[in-house]
Amino acid sequence: MFPECNDEDTRWVLNNALKFWRACPTKRCRRARSCVGDTMRCHKIFWPVVPQELKVWWRAVLDAKRTNRTARQAGRLAETAAAEWRKREALMQKLRPPK
Ligand SMILES: [Zn+2]
Repeated sequence: MFPECNDEDTRWVLNNALKFWRACPTKRCRRARSCVGDTMRCHKIFWPVVPQELKVWWRAVLDAKRTNRTARQAGRLAETAAAEWRKREALMQKLRPPK
């Protein structure tokens, strides 16, 4: 979990952006197609299964927000961070010994 997710508003934005409501145990969330329940409960359930690349993307967005970048700059920084992550992952795959 990102430290920023201790903030209710940020957590709600992430829960919805990542569409946690699709698999939410709270029926109300699924029906509303939005996080309308306990945002911390949902976050704790679903955050661990968010793909690493998406986490890298969001980490960059939150960093950009903290340093007052525009939404457009944030998007660009996040794309770059995700691309770098993919490159690093591909390299790691090559370094891994074959099974
Ligand atoms: Zn929910």
